Parts: sequence; C-alpha cells; structure tokens
Amino acid sequence: MVKRLVVFDFDWSLVDQDTDRYVFECLQPELRKSMKVDKAHVQWTDLMARNLGKLHEQGFTRQQIEESLQELPFHRAMRRGVRSLKERTQTTLFCLSNSNSIFIDTILKHHRMTDIFSEIVTNPAEWDDTGLLKLRRRISPEEQQHNCKVGCSPNMCKGTELAAYLERHGGFDQVIYVGDGGNDMCPVLTLRSQDLALVRTGRELQRRIAREGGTRCEIKYWGGAWEVEQIFNTMQ
Ligand SMILES: [Mg+2]
Ligand SMILES: [Zn+2]
Repeated sequence: MVKRLVVFDFDWSLVDQDTDRYVFECLQPELRKSMKVDKAHVQWTDLMARNLGKLHEQGFTRQQIEESLQELPFHRAMRRGVRSLKERTQTTLFCLSNSNSIFIDTILKHHRMTDIFSEIVTNPAEWDDTGLLKLRRRISPEEQQHNCKVGCSPNMCKGTELAAYLERHGGFDQVIYVGDGGNDMCPVLTLRSQDLALVRTGRELQRRIAREGGTRCEIKYWGGAWEVEQIFNTMQ
C-alpha cells in the first residue's frame, strides 16, 4: 500500500470559507469592511488579533464567535471524502493553515473531525478568562524571521513548515497538497514529480502557477468539494 501524506490548507480548501473573514462577516460587518483597507499596512495575523480585541471590547462573547464558526460552510462531500480516505488507505493527514488553532479546533470539534489530522500547524490562539481570543503569529516578530523568497507572509512560511514536517515524519511515497491561496505556492513548489497538488480553480494559487510556473508535481484542478472526494475515492 502507498504510504501517503495529504497536506490540507484550511480556508477555502478543507472548508468552503475563509475563517478569519467569516467570523467578522457574521458578527461585525463594519470591522470586516475595515479589514479590506487595513490589510494593506498591517500584517494579517496582527490585524486579526487587533480586531478580535475590538470584538471583545464591543461585548461580543466567546459563545458568539464559536457559534459563527460552527455555522461556517464545511461541505459534506469534503468531510465524507477525507473520512473515507483515512479509513480505507494508509494516509496521514497534516493541516497547514494561516488561520489559528482555536478557529480550526472549534470547527473540527463541531463536525466530530478532531481525529482526522495527525498534526496541525497554524497560528497559536487561546481564550483568556474574560472571553478574549488571544492570537499570535506562528513566528513572532521578536524571533528570527523566515527568509522565504516565494512570498509567504511573515507569520509563517508554509514551504518551510512542510519541509520541517517531512523531516520529523518523512518516508512518504506520495505527498498530496490541497490548497487554493497565494501562500500555498511555496509548499507546492517543493513537491516532487510523484506528488500531486489539488488546486482550487479561480483563486490565487491557480493564477500563480499559471503565471510563475516552476512546479514539478502533477496538478489536478477542482472547483467543488465533491471533486476532491471523487479524486480521493480513486485512491487505494
Ligand atoms: Mg486557503
Ligand atoms: Zn515560503
């Protein structure tokens, strides 16, 4: 049996939404609107941390944030496809995301999927006693910064994180990367000829691959979660 690693980006890949934006769209659209402007001059994770603070100041509760995450679209076909792949085959699943640990855990817990990933690498977050969600960058500004040349955000280089994961757990016959965003380009560039990238159509990763090239792996494009399920279903 093929020893396979499936690496999942979270937003718009495993789930059908962007966790960071969705919470604000549900609870405080004015803050969501301001993010469109602020993202030009504030690092995204820092901006999220700041806006979670504002949400807390305005009286929004932990429960309200959790409820919005529980409502976030997570396609049944994706849940079914991932579950089946894990049960039928020798596949390890690894989540690599620029969201945060609380958002991801809340969603996985709601859908009884906490057993799916063997490891989740993302920005650390925690609730404090007052119900404030405290979020930090994966790589804090005080630490040594990554020197990624592909364009990863300062908080995390996904290519470096994938390489570190393979260093820790190596020996996979095939790596499959499921992603959609511009920051998924870096890890996709590290994939080998026997690996596979499942790239969501109409989003930045597809545009970057078309524009910049340089990939060695096989690439399959998908639009809806059901298509990923179909691809998974062909795997032994
Ligand atoms: Mg994404
Ligand atoms: Zn990178």
